Amino acid sequence: MRTRCCAILVTCCGLIATVALAASQARAAALLIQNARLIDGTGAAPHPGTSILVRDGRIAAIGDDLAAQDVPVLDVQGATVLPGLIDSHIHLGVVPGSALRRDTPEVERTLRRRHLRAYLACGVTTVLDTHVDLAVAREIKAWLAAGEPGPRYLTLGPGFVPPDGYPADGTPSMATPEDVAAHFAQLAELGVVGVKVFLEPGFGMRRVWPTLSAEVRAAIAREAADRRLPIYVHAQREEEMNLALAMGVHAFVHGGFYDGSPSDGFVQRVAASGAYLGSTFAVVDAQSIEFHPERLEDALVRRTVPAVEIATARDPAAGRALAAAQIGMVEPWLPNVLHGLLARWFVSDASLEARLASSQRAVRRFWEAGVPIVVGSDSGNWPIDPYHFHGVTTLRELELLRDAGMPPMEVLDAATRVPARMLDLSDEIGTVELGKRADLIVVRGDPLSDLRALRTIAWTIQGGVARTPEEWMDGEPVTRP
Ligand SMILES: [Zn+2]
Repeated sequence: MRTRCCAILVTCCGLIATVALAASQARAAALLIQNARLIDGTGAAPHPGTSILVRDGRIAAIGDDLAAQDVPVLDVQGATVLPGLIDSHIHLGVVPGSALRRDTPEVERTLRRRHLRAYLACGVTTVLDTHVDLAVAREIKAWLAAGEPGPRYLTLGPGFVPPDGYPADGTPSMATPEDVAAHFAQLAELGVVGVKVFLEPGFGMRRVWPTLSAEVRAAIAREAADRRLPIYVHAQREEEMNLALAMGVHAFVHGGFYDGSPSDGFVQRVAASGAYLGSTFAVVDAQSIEFHPERLEDALVRRTVPAVEIATARDPAAGRALAAAQIGMVEPWLPNVLHGLLARWFVSDASLEARLASSQRAVRRFWEAGVPIVVGSDSGNWPIDPYHFHGVTTLRELELLRDAGMPPMEVLDAATRVPARMLDLSDEIGTVELGKRADLIVVRGDPLSDLRALRTIAWTIQGGVARTPEEWMDGEPVTRP
């Protein structure tokens, strides 16, 4: 890659770039990208030799041979340019492995700032945080407003949790319609883009938690409709997903069906409802790092995941602690001493593979029936989970959707155009079109022949500000256009 506006040239992996580009752009938020092989996200075939002109952080022109005065030029030499990626299911409040290390709040804050950068370094320019502590969400929003590097941060705030139900993470529970009204008031103040409802009776064969009462569910549906806030639901089986359909669910945040499969009639009902479905294969797949630690050698993992998190993920005891905690979740009546023993029996490489394959089969059936699928990695899903890294897990989720049988172009749609529509942001993001925000990624390889090419990311461009993954991880905070 070659830029014309700045003097300092560095050579990296055969590419030429300037290290001063990002700073000058941060002031101007103007950029001329040349020689792009453009996948614009509209479903059109890739278009080689494309120029994209960015002014004031937005796409001002797209053409075959554009020129502009006084605008930094990024010649990408035939590399592929795509819309910035959207992860529709993350939890930035959770630091992977923090419960195992007993991280202090200050350490967690430091790592959270690294996670924000990691999303950009991995090409993820928009995230939807589907359940987060109120104070943490406020703090993240304040950081970003002050110019801290990070993706566009959308959140559902803390979800609606029943008394003594899942998740037991200190979120205020909802026993009455008055509780619901008070919670909505707080969510509105936070500026949520929807609300999250948990309908989880248990992860095993038995129901171990109560779910939200019919009265509370009705109050949530009413208030959400009044406030025009779409309802996002955590549910993993037909019974609870049917309750969600009755509430007018906008999106299911999990593909679910890690054991068991949906009935044909249910698949058709979901398709007819128009509800979106998040994939979240990484819920199972990330844990297989315990049995395949070589995955930690991936260049993008090493570049974007904090060293302390990689160290925890390398520790075999961390994997066993996670597995034991999972047994405790499934069968809470069992004495603690048995959790570890049963974990050895039930949580294995083979059992994880089987659960992943089951969910992939289910999501494929939903997709074939016409249900709009969105990429959701569920990164940071549990503080005791040391493997569910922020940033790079999103790219893994795309690869797992491809493995589930979706063609690469449709997988890319599931991380761009489709979630933009789900989030009612189609006028802003999701495709590379005139007037839209210049959130783009530049990758060296061809993602249509192999989605792992997304890991060859050379630049993430956010609102017209272009930086390499290294610069996003370690550069100074930039001033937002
Ligand atoms: Zn989640």
